[in-house]
Amino acid sequence: MKIELKGRKAIVTGSTAGIGFAIAQGLARAGASVVINGRGEQRVAAALVELRTQLPEAEFAGVAADLSTAEGSALLAARINDADILVNNLGTAYVNGFFDQKDEEWLDLFQLNVMSGVRAARHYAPGMVNRGWGRVVFISSESAVNIPKEMIDYGMTKTAQLSVSRGLAELVGGTGVTVNAVLPGPTRSEILGNWMVATAAEQGITQDEAEQNFLKTMRPTTLINRFTTTEEVANMVVYICSEQASGTSGAALRVDGGVVRSIF
Ligand code: NAD
Repeated sequence: MKIELKGRKAIVTGSTAGIGFAIAQGLARAGASVVINGRGEQRVAAALVELRTQLPEAEFAGVAADLSTAEGSALLAARINDADILVNNLGTAYVNGFFDQKDEEWLDLFQLNVMSGVRAARHYAPGMVNRGWGRVVFISSESAVNIPKEMIDYGMTKTAQLSVSRGLAELVGGTGVTVNAVLPGPTRSEILGNWMVATAAEQGITQDEAEQNFLKTMRPTTLINRFTTTEEVANMVVYICSEQASGTSGAALRVDGGVVRSIF
């Protein structure tokens, strides 16, 4: 199978690092022109330099906008009017104690992890429907299913993304637009990589050992016994954005190394 996305315009939110950056690389390698996004101008500019160096043939643009706010989402929409592919990758997590958490912290995470994608899909999906082709992908998490007790708010936002994704797939059914969610497991992204590097330094062990300890204690059901790479997650996203994936919509697709113990 040769995936060809030449002539397609993609937006990947939160893509100056981590899984989003790998998705931007993967889509560009398949021929799509890719808009990357992060909060700060500097990080966006640095990511653009890196991507253009790696893939000189590819076409990239960048928009610095904080998509956790309605203003940031409006700024992205104003700068990039339409897209054929929207990957709602932006998201974060904080380890916290449920009993001490404030309402604002719940609402802020909901804005960042859920509303950023809702607003982007609301803006870009109608154009896809009008043109009769489109791909919307929500990067959820295995934490949507296995709710982590130290990040219940995160689990809630990731389950909410599945609901939005499935509902939107129903709404645009039969139009040539597909909507799917991808559920990564523990992945060596910037945020989790940094956490493991810090843990390793604290405990005088290697990053590999820190990851193994994390898996044993926090994700013992892993079937691959390692973190996934950002590229492994990106591969699934590139496929689901391809022409060839036209038969898959409304799905929740796992790249979790088998962490979720269910067949479906
Ligand atoms: P990361 O922190 O490594 O990268 C996040 C990216 O988003 C960065 O480019 C950052 O600059 C950007 N960003 C952060 N806040 C932003 C904002 N308000 N507006 C615009 N850009 C912003 O994250 P990651 O681990 O690659 O996670 C990407 C997605 O994958 C998230 O939705 C996350 O929940 C999901 N996920 C990650 C893992 C994992 O183990 N890393 C597992 C399951 C799901």
